[in-house]
Amino acid sequence: MLLLSDKFGRPITDLRISITDHCNYKCVYCRTGNEGALYSDLPFTDYLRMARIFAGLGIRKVRITGGEPLLRKGVVEFVRELAKLRTTDDEPLELAITTNGHLLAEMAQPLKDAGLRRATVSMDAVDPDRFARITRVPNGFDNVLAGIRAARHAGLWPVKVNCVLMRGFNEDQIIPFGMFAREEGVIVRFIEFMPLEEDRTWAPETVVTLDEIVARMAEYRPLVEIPHERSETARRYHFDDGIGEIGIIAPVSHPFCGHCSRIRITSDGKIRTCLFSVWDHDLHELMRRNASDEELVEFICGVVARKEERHHIGEADFVPASRTMVHIGG
Ligand code: SAM
Repeated sequence: MLLLSDKFGRPITDLRISITDHCNYKCVYCRTGNEGALYSDLPFTDYLRMARIFAGLGIRKVRITGGEPLLRKGVVEFVRELAKLRTTDDEPLELAITTNGHLLAEMAQPLKDAGLRRATVSMDAVDPDRFARITRVPNGFDNVLAGIRAARHAGLWPVKVNCVLMRGFNEDQIIPFGMFAREEGVIVRFIEFMPLEEDRTWAPETVVTLDEIVARMAEYRPLVEIPHERSETARRYHFDDGIGEIGIIAPVSHPFCGHCSRIRITSDGKIRTCLFSVWDHDLHELMRRNASDEELVEFICGVVARKEERHHIGEADFVPASRTMVHIGG
């Protein structure tokens, strides 16, 4: 059986599909003031065909992302169709979504019923005013909190809350988020700010690093590291009394490229082999030209084999990615 791996021997098991690059939030570390959308999106049948082919090549997890995926009409039905696909071990795919949570309160239960297993909600402050300053949306906080609670209530498990820390905006939210994780029963994951934003404000000093997060949180309560899978992006910790889990995703200070198992499809049907790729590979163009499944498999395997070894953030030879995060899907 043909299973995806790259020339460095990394098995590729995790597919992320962006279903739109349109977004209703304008987070400072991601968007600028524009409408978000630059690229088209595809009919769900096209993403489904891609997902089916990738599943036949060893993909086990599919994460739906964007832009903001819940803006796309028909997303529940899309999940229902994805849930019918099988892995090479004849298991259902593990389906997850990354969302800003603004529309999740009404959609969590239908998504769960359709076959979604896990949800990650982006929330960068537990303080509503700070939240508004970061997202540049005046009244989103209550919606997002309701979305997180609805996801838990619907049985999406685990619910993870992603917080991108950006110096000068929310580094003082570390301890409040520790408390939030314990009170709400969610896994809070701090993400180091990466140079993938439209405003080009990234500088090494703006990154709040893993070491700094751990030290700050330890002032609140001691953390105990949890052993994690090599391909997991997050270092995981629980508090010393066992209540509350946090994760830290540290691509800048502790890169994990050597264990990367991810591949991405953009909303306009391009394959991205790395967040920091300087070009895309147009899978949809082949589909438009009526390529057979076999031809698509050959194309995908060739592209994946050439996956970049690692990113070069902070190095003299760093070249910015050809797309920013909102147009890739995180
Ligand atoms: N709209 C959805 C959301 O807000 O979760 C999905 C798309 S968003 C691009 C996916 C993830 O990327 C979010 O968790 C977001 O915080 C993260 N992200 C965006 N820009 C980032 C950056 N410059 N550095 C690190 N993470 C970033």
